[in-house]
Amino acid sequence: MDEIRHGRCLCGNVQFKITGDAGGVTFCHCSMCRRQTGHHYATINVKREQIEIEGEDSVNWYQSSESSYRGFCGRCGSALFWKSDRWPGIAVQAGSLDAPTGLKGKFHIFVADKGDYYEIDDDLPQFAQSS
Ligand SMILES: [Zn+2]
Ligand SMILES: [Zn+2]
Repeated sequence: MDEIRHGRCLCGNVQFKITGDAGGVTFCHCSMCRRQTGHHYATINVKREQIEIEGEDSVNWYQSSESSYRGFCGRCGSALFWKSDRWPGIAVQAGSLDAPTGLKGKFHIFVADKGDYYEIDDDLPQFAQSS
């Protein structure tokens, strides 16, 4: 049977359902992810056909680089999604998912850019840039 996970933004205007394997959680420590969310990114990466978004009109897409876009709720500001013209998937913030997620951390990326105000103290693989 397919795995199903539900998630939403803080105010509930954006709700979504993810069907199928969600893999593990990627932690991105780059400065853009930290500025947008207030700390590092923690996302699952799924295929776009795995996600059904309700209230998509409420999602604002901020173009943060030439090819990538960061989706957030236009009402409450919750960071929700990341997508790129160069990648067919969509990254979804693990923090927006309903518990229990059943997910585990996979690895850390852009560790070279991480903030100096915290340590990474788990045993997951670390990559200086992307994986
Ligand atoms: Zn919202
Ligand atoms: Zn990042």
